[in-house]
Amino acid sequence: MEEVKQVSAAESEKLQGIISMMGVGEVKCDKCGKPIRHMERYCSNSRECYHESTVFNSIAELNTHFVEAHSPEQPRGARYCTECSIKTGYLRMVRNKKTGEVFPAMFALRDEEIVEEGNKP
Ligand SMILES: [Zn+2]
Ligand SMILES: [Zn+2]
Repeated sequence: MEEVKQVSAAESEKLQGIISMMGVGEVKCDKCGKPIRHMERYCSNSRECYHESTVFNSIAELNTHFVEAHSPEQPRGARYCTECSIKTGYLRMVRNKKTGEVFPAMFALRDEEIVEEGNKP
């Protein structure tokens, strides 16, 4: 994790349980209902119930909740499309300093910088 920069303690706390993924096949955003397109960057809050947005302290707690509240559904975290991820703060726009390419990511790596709000190209 030594490549991770520009992340405060509060931010890393907020990002607990957040997994950043690429869309494959037919998945839908649990927040806005928009389909997540193939190869679109999206996030999953692996500890949030997608039915009622309750966040648990551990994946084990989420699994127990599913067994009790949503059985026999398969437990899974809540999906956030790119837009909802940016709104929630799970993703931000990052620019590659060398290529100038701008894309959504959880962290800025070496040779990348966060594109600040109002500073978009
Ligand atoms: Zn969404
Ligand atoms: Zn639930």
